[in-house]
Amino acid sequence: MPEFSLRELIAARAGREYDLYAQSINPQFVRVLRTIGFDRRWSRAEGASLYDADGKRVLDLLGGFGMFNVGRNNPRIRAALEEALALETPGSVQLGVSALPGLLGEELLRRAPRSIARVLFTSSGAEANEAAIKLGRAATGRPRVLSAERGFHGLTLGALSANGNAEFTERFGPLLPVFARVPFNDLGALEAELRGEDVALFLVEPVQGKGVVLPEPGYLEGAQELCRRYGTLFALDEVQTGLGRTGRFLALERWGLEPDLVTVAKSLSGGFVPVGACLMARRVYDGVFDSLENSVSHGSTFAPNDLAMAAGLATLHELDEEGLVARSARLGAKLLELTQPLVDEFEVVHDVRGLGLMWAIEFGEPRSGKLSWKMIEKVQPGLFAQLVVVPLFSEHRILSQVAGHKLAVLKVLPPLVVTDEDIEQFVEALTTTIAGAQHMPRSLTRFALTAAGIR
Ligand code: PLP
Repeated sequence: MPEFSLRELIAARAGREYDLYAQSINPQFVRVLRTIGFDRRWSRAEGASLYDADGKRVLDLLGGFGMFNVGRNNPRIRAALEEALALETPGSVQLGVSALPGLLGEELLRRAPRSIARVLFTSSGAEANEAAIKLGRAATGRPRVLSAERGFHGLTLGALSANGNAEFTERFGPLLPVFARVPFNDLGALEAELRGEDVALFLVEPVQGKGVVLPEPGYLEGAQELCRRYGTLFALDEVQTGLGRTGRFLALERWGLEPDLVTVAKSLSGGFVPVGACLMARRVYDGVFDSLENSVSHGSTFAPNDLAMAAGLATLHELDEEGLVARSARLGAKLLELTQPLVDEFEVVHDVRGLGLMWAIEFGEPRSGKLSWKMIEKVQPGLFAQLVVVPLFSEHRILSQVAGHKLAVLKVLPPLVVTDEDIEQFVEALTTTIAGAQHMPRSLTRFALTAAGIR
């Protein structure tokens, strides 16, 4: 029998990756990538770098949607995984436990706010939020779940029911009943919903990922206070903002919040192994896991598995050892400082905002009307951001993203290991690209029309 070799399997199909993906997985997605010229052949990745088949470096400011905070293929996380495999750890006994889940649970609690006492592991961010919703209902004996408009919590049915973006929810209804949404940054609307004292939890991102919307001063503290007053659990979704992204280990530290539930995932395993966690206050745990009979009220076969736990332990260690949380704060401040002048420089730039290395630039109609903004917006709302994301990639070899459906907002979530030079390179490329997009050369218009044809 021939030896099993990944290297040979990959080599045998070199150059056919996109066809292969289209054949058995998602041909529509491959069509999109080909239309916008993102069908690059990738050969390897390291830190904040992706290398294509020609060995050319692309600066990865997308970071796998924020799952590579410690850098892609971080050698120390890889070594921990290799060590776990070599140790033949007795994970997932199911009717028994090994050391690694308890060790990671302990490390997470050490970094969590005082209000948090227990950890429930999951295999994704969506699942962590599903757990928050389920456990929050059981612990309070209340049915309703509140979330924020434009909020994003994952795409499984419970998390989707809390989603505040129609483009994700329409076509998949009916969603779970008694879920409702209130505008983000609106304490009056929140209180109006909480007054009935039938809301189990208010699930909210400290900084909304879609559009990178920052909380107004006092909003999160006020929301926590209102939740306390009406007996609702205050649940923070830190799946995107956690693990150093905003310049704190958890974003909640900036406002001294003491939530009842906190969810994390994405970078917790350094991007190697699916993992998530729902951190909860003692009263949530005690309200659900309240007897021997109820000791396994929620869980999932693979959570917690030893490889995810090993990667998680190594990731927390790496964040500390390399000072990545402070680095995120410093480089985020630098990025903001270098890009804020763009608001004055370009009429089409309406706002630049961010917290740590969660950063966005918002475009809008220029006052002078020099740019045919209305024409572009008519083709597809938010298209201008795409007109910047595409040349950033094709001409400057920088990977970024549009921050949400129909949003003229470009966003980055770089690995926290990016360098000062990477940030400077991005700002320079961004400035050139906006200047170019503003003039809308014919090729860009053609691209805009083609891209808009994608359905
Ligand atoms: N919550 C937030 C704030 C997210 O940004 C995401 C993913 O982008 C999720 C939840 C869902 O996480 P996952 O994709 O691991 O299910």
